[in-house]
Amino acid sequence: MTEIPFLDLKQINGPYMDAITRRLTEVALSGRYIGGDENGRFEKMMTDTIGTECCVGVSNGLDGLFLILEAYKCLGRLKEGDEVIVPANTYIASVLAISRARLVPVPVDADISTLNLDISKIEDALTDRTRAIMTVHLYGRVCWSKQLKQIADRQGLIVVEDCAQSIGASFSGTMSGNLGDAAAFSFYPTKNIGAMGDAGAVTTNDRLLADTVRALANYGTDRRYHNVYRGYNCRLDPMQATVLTVKLPDLNHISDSRRNLAGIYLGSIDNPAVKLPETPADSAEHVWHQFVVLTDRRDELRRFLADNGVATDINYPTPPHRQPCYADSLSHLDMPVARIVADKCLSLPLNQAMSPNQIRNVADVVNSFK
Ligand SMILES: *Cc1c(COP(=O)(O)O)cnc(C)c1O
Repeated sequence: MTEIPFLDLKQINGPYMDAITRRLTEVALSGRYIGGDENGRFEKMMTDTIGTECCVGVSNGLDGLFLILEAYKCLGRLKEGDEVIVPANTYIASVLAISRARLVPVPVDADISTLNLDISKIEDALTDRTRAIMTVHLYGRVCWSKQLKQIADRQGLIVVEDCAQSIGASFSGTMSGNLGDAAAFSFYPTKNIGAMGDAGAVTTNDRLLADTVRALANYGTDRRYHNVYRGYNCRLDPMQATVLTVKLPDLNHISDSRRNLAGIYLGSIDNPAVKLPETPADSAEHVWHQFVVLTDRRDELRRFLADNGVATDINYPTPPHRQPCYADSLSHLDMPVARIVADKCLSLPLNQAMSPNQIRNVADVVNSFK
């Protein structure tokens, strides 16, 4: 019986290892360990890839989201207590960024077919304190529409994109990260482009916002020993920037591999106990960070797959509003679709290090589940 791990990071990074170790050695020998050329090269590569005017490398995805919100506060566009709409079934980091910035997260339920924010439910959630929408391209599928844009424009809402799972996905030719007013990316090692530690980035076409994020991430300094904000230390580590400049040029290849493997799952799993993820009409809108199926017999299927050597994951078993840390403020909410997703979702292994045959083997095991 062949063992299929959920994600083997050593295998994922294997093809880049020679270049990475060579370049990391150069940085180690350079004596320059904060900022410097590597960060600049990384940021340039990101603006070329995403298509935005600006990119600021930051410490991680959560800090990126938080710094965007804080920067809008510094610029007078947001203030403490303002409400931010966020999908109910997102990874908790999206919500943590909002509450850490002393804004109020307003979860809106998911759409059972896209597993993303149900855009048709945004209007009902608007109040006179709503100031922003955080759209999350969950599992690598873009969450965007003309309607979302119209609501934001009409209400004067800021749109922040959480692109932690969606690097490389696009909507009508525009990359995620260049759809809203500002976006945060995560390069946590398991993401589609992963560093060898924590790393993140903020992209935007708003130069003033980018400058504010950069200042906030560097103790609130706009020039040396001059602190305009009570800032933070959320800089991108140049060692991680180095790893990312080796891997980013491979983004299209990585996304294509993932789409190809997802296509094999979609064409070969035909167990009536398993509901396959819907594919957007435009395949560019999905980079398959996770391949999530829904099943009433989730725990049973998960055990069956494990017994047959296939590792799986659950993304995510508990929505943020049900977590103990939000018991005081969000636990009263009833989000029926988010609950269904949390109870029934199962992520099958899918990553660019897997072969088509491994995917077919997993599909065979799923199909043999009775
Ligand atoms: C991973 C992730 C984050 C947080 O990124 P970190 O780099 O781990 O801080 C935020 N939002 C979503 C949707 C994520 O998947």
